Amino acid sequence: MPNLQSVLDEIAHDMASASERGAVARYIPELAKVDPARFGLAVLTEDGTLHTAGDADEPFSIQSVSKVFTLTLALGQVGDILWNRVGREPSGNPFNSIVQLEYEHGIPRNPLINAGALVVTDVLLSGYKPREAIGLILSFMRGLADDDSVFIDEKVARSEEETGFGNRALANYMKAFGNIRHAVEWTTGVYFHQCAIAMSCRQLAVAASFLAGEGKHLLTGNRIVSRERARRINAVMLTCGHYDGSGDFAFRVGIPGKSGVGGGIMAVVPGKASIAVWSPGLNKVGNSLLGSLALERLAKAMDWSIFAP
Ligand code: GLU
Repeated sequence: MPNLQSVLDEIAHDMASASERGAVARYIPELAKVDPARFGLAVLTEDGTLHTAGDADEPFSIQSVSKVFTLTLALGQVGDILWNRVGREPSGNPFNSIVQLEYEHGIPRNPLINAGALVVTDVLLSGYKPREAIGLILSFMRGLADDDSVFIDEKVARSEEETGFGNRALANYMKAFGNIRHAVEWTTGVYFHQCAIAMSCRQLAVAASFLAGEGKHLLTGNRIVSRERARRINAVMLTCGHYDGSGDFAFRVGIPGKSGVGGGIMAVVPGKASIAVWSPGLNKVGNSLLGSLALERLAKAMDWSIFAP
């Protein structure tokens, strides 16, 4: 087996000179300011060893990667009845698509597209004010990252508030079907803040580790979810984690992962490792271009795949 640190160093070195980096997300003005040349990579292995390369300690906007964590929290709060309000099928549509909601009566196809994540956030508001729900999500992330410096980037949150008409449209449309139960501004407000959580690759790899450890956190040893739930969250990530690029990611990388328009991707190799990569430039479907490439190379070099023993 090749040396993991050398593999990471080599990937980071090659990515630094990549000629094609994709385009940073422009529809959230604050994200458009991020330097496209940044690249970070972190891997936590099952023995609790952390390996990093590049800008692995630089916080970035985790955006839709947050959807996996709010899903975990919501399942913890209401259990499997969550699946009455959101499906678990790949959408085959862009992350912010509204079209399927009409045919499927306001039930989003899965919790990792915007519509589905809004429903999940709406569930998290039950019994809480928006500020409390945001606090709950942030402390969950800090606990999982084992690091209290995880923060919400208020500039990014405001930028989303100012431009998030598409997300408000999704929430309003689902409210018409009764699938958003709180005020649309409450639900979208919490959602914008969860997307604006800033974390480094190092923190994100640590936070994802419970999904690599069959529900048990690889660093702290705490049980976060049951083994069955960890497997199911991984299944949803594999099938839905990269929007309408999910099939291609599974084909090329072969492990569950979740991307965000901030250019981050979190991925897990069950029983072996949790990974976070960040490169702000996106491909046509909104997934990090070099991040996907880096994961493809890493999985190949380490012979990591959920389709092999
Ligand atoms: N905050 C972003 C949005 O709602 C998240 C999208 C993403 O990361 O895919 O548009």
